[in-house]
Amino acid sequence: EGFLPFEHEPYFNFRDGAVAQAQQEAFRQVREQYVGRTFPLIVGGQEAQGSGTFEVRNPADTREVVWRFQNATPAQLQQAVEAAQAAFEEWRFSDPFQRASIFKRAAELLRARRMELNAVMTLENGKNWPEADGEVAESVDHFEVFAREALRWAQGKPVYPMPDEHVTTVYEPLGVVACISPWNFPSAIPLGMALGAIAAGNTVIWKPARETPLSSYLMVELLFEAGLPRGVIQFLTGTDDVLGDPLVDHPGVRMIAFTGSKEIGCRIYERAAKVQPGQRWLKRVIAEMGGKDPTVVCADGDLDAAAAGIVQAAFGYAGQKCSACSRVIAEESVYDALLEKVTALARQLKVGLPEDNADLGPVIHPGSAERIMGFVERGQQSARLVLGGDVPDMGERQGGYVSPTIFADVPPSDPLFQEEIFGPVLAFTRARDWQHAIELANDSEYGLTAAFYSRDPHKIEEARKRLHVGNLYINRKCTGALSGTHAFGGYGMSGTNAKVGGPDYLFWFLQTKTVAQRY
Ligand code: NAD
Repeated sequence: EGFLPFEHEPYFNFRDGAVAQAQQEAFRQVREQYVGRTFPLIVGGQEAQGSGTFEVRNPADTREVVWRFQNATPAQLQQAVEAAQAAFEEWRFSDPFQRASIFKRAAELLRARRMELNAVMTLENGKNWPEADGEVAESVDHFEVFAREALRWAQGKPVYPMPDEHVTTVYEPLGVVACISPWNFPSAIPLGMALGAIAAGNTVIWKPARETPLSSYLMVELLFEAGLPRGVIQFLTGTDDVLGDPLVDHPGVRMIAFTGSKEIGCRIYERAAKVQPGQRWLKRVIAEMGGKDPTVVCADGDLDAAAAGIVQAAFGYAGQKCSACSRVIAEESVYDALLEKVTALARQLKVGLPEDNADLGPVIHPGSAERIMGFVERGQQSARLVLGGDVPDMGERQGGYVSPTIFADVPPSDPLFQEEIFGPVLAFTRARDWQHAIELANDSEYGLTAAFYSRDPHKIEEARKRLHVGNLYINRKCTGALSGTHAFGGYGMSGTNAKVGGPDYLFWFLQTKTVAQRY
């Protein structure tokens, strides 16, 4: 562990004029350098064309095609699995110090290009500047954290001794890991899963979301530039009919690391359980899925801090985070005051272009906006709309813009309370008292994040024990987990709780060998 101490990558202060100007300049450069280009697949270290290309569009105005990527063919999927298997025969025995130094070098390279990556992400998925910056900084942290984790897990673990045997417990990699990721964190999420695999000595098939391939592609290139042998990652883009079920079902794939929706996560979990002809293992699956994350506010909580935290967590990146606050559960006596404070703050948020760093940009697709508006329309029959609920006028621009929306008096049985909407829609629900608030918070099939506001040590103690979530935040917002510190992953239908960025994450990518030797 020679790399300590560790510090989280600091964020840019875009209020500083010079910093803001540099970010604007990065947009100009990215437009010059990348817009209009077509990017390849990478299989066996070689760039390849697919059977055709698909367009990536700017969600802020979907008339703009920003870049194009390849549709991989079934034959290329087969080649990719074979290439990853071949590369595994060397990489599995690679020196953990080599792995760690590659990650350290990649962290350095990324630090020098953060604003470029911010701009690419904004053009692909509509994050505003601080949201994109937060994710790129997290990616730097991932490199630093996984460098250390690679070394830590290489040490094995002590065992209870025997007088006449020398016994060791060591960890070995599994094989080919398919990493399948969502569009909402297009660099940090696939990177976290891939680094988990690679740090442990596995090889990777990296399958980004169709909406956001360049934020992924640049991470892969960065790793190669930092010295990762090119066969270790196969980069495949394309359609789900070629790269969905067939990738999951492939008998050469040893493990699937997935982050995305509950629907696809459950599908993968089930399909991966079937042993295919020629398959010589039980596939391992990690599947990190959705959330319906509550913020509980007790009567004695700091209402101003709670309101600020709620608004950031609910409307940051238009609510499109698995960790986003989508339910507020407040004690009767402070409910109205809190609702008023949150509504006042949310009313100030400006919807606009992420490239101009608006508070709230578009959702990922115009179709997603329609789906969200469906929840809003149905919601008005069962709850009280207090803010938004409409589509702002964005002139000629074609994008899925939705105003920040707040519903009050939402019954716990309502879809607004139970279903992941994945948009800027927040539900307020009244609790009789703080115990009832904890009960309501737990009334969900999900269990990803929660925030709890109180100053009372007894209530806090109960919340720590009873809130059924993987990430609990007390007196702070429920978004913004930091790699290495806030190991991330949920309970219940939020997934397998693999806890990326945590002390046990690499264990998911390893198998354990016991060797007992007599002399
Ligand atoms: P999604 O499930 O639609 O897609 C995720 C990935 O799965 C994409 O790469 C997609 O191409 C791929 N895919 C589609 N069909 C497949 C199949 N049959 N087999 C294998 N892969 C297939 O999710 P999304 O819309 O991209 O992302 C949003 C969801 O992700 C939300 O539910 C959100 O809560 C969740 N999410 C969870 C976390 C977490 O850490 N728990 C983090 C971010 C996002």
